[in-house]
Amino acid sequence: MDLGIFGKRAIICAASRGLGKACAMALVREGVNVIINGRDANVLQATKKEIAAIDKADVTAIACDITTQAGQEKILEACPHPDILVNNAGGPPPGDFRDWDTQIWQDALQANMLTPVMLIKAVIDHMIAQKFGRIVNITSGAVKSPIAILGLSNAARCGLSGFVAGLSRQVAQHNVAINNLLPGPFDTDRLQSNIAHIAETSGKSVQEERATRMQANPAGRFGQPEELGQMCAYLCSQQAGFIVGQNILMDGGSFNGTL
Ligand code: NAP
Repeated sequence: MDLGIFGKRAIICAASRGLGKACAMALVREGVNVIINGRDANVLQATKKEIAAIDKADVTAIACDITTQAGQEKILEACPHPDILVNNAGGPPPGDFRDWDTQIWQDALQANMLTPVMLIKAVIDHMIAQKFGRIVNITSGAVKSPIAILGLSNAARCGLSGFVAGLSRQVAQHNVAINNLLPGPFDTDRLQSNIAHIAETSGKSVQEERATRMQANPAGRFGQPEELGQMCAYLCSQQAGFIVGQNILMDGGSFNGTL
């Protein structure tokens, strides 16, 4: 299927590894010129080289912390009027809410709610004026099914979902579609380090812990980042303009519900 976005410009935040990188690769395969971002400049440059080798579009790499105002300005300076925005950032730490002070809460809200809101604010009016815009927020399956130790994530991401639910319906008439992608377990560095951490305390080997977790998923496996990247590219397509304000869960069926 031709997604009809050849030659468009996309900002993909936090895209030097994992799910963000997979989104960038899928969009470049469609001929979308991408601005990718990450904090570690060396990793980012290596990723830029890898994505540029697809040889279908321009790849610009901007090393910065997307959760800071300075970082957001740097990205927007390089691409003030993107056609596509993919919001992503690292997730907040796990823990017990009794240990979290106001600063910890503010950091989580800044990374996983306010940063996407500020970037949407910066780009949306041009999208409206040109009658095309696609925004995808990578959030978490925790929006549908809260994870007890990830209270910061549960809260910040639901806040973003609530905001998007309202805004997406205000801008849909201008062919600007905003949606959220909710990953369950995807086999990225983040998941691997989480499993290594759990294995340290459970007494199981990393391989055993991986196998246990995969067996617990109805699909019998983890998701591959490319699967989420391709869904993201579809949500950015010309064809996806009637998908508005949705929370699309990709978790292998792990959320046990009829609707
Ligand atoms: P990952 O493999 O750890 O990759 C994270 C990427 O984001 C890296 O490129 C990292 O590069 C970049 N990054 C992190 N913080 C950043 C910041 N402040 N500014 C700029 N770049 C930043 O993680 P992932 O698995 O792809 O996860 C992506 C998001 O999906 C996270 O919010 C995560 O919580 C969520 N999620 C993931 C899963 C899963 O199973 N993988 C499940 C549910 C939710 P640098 O470190 O160099 O900055």
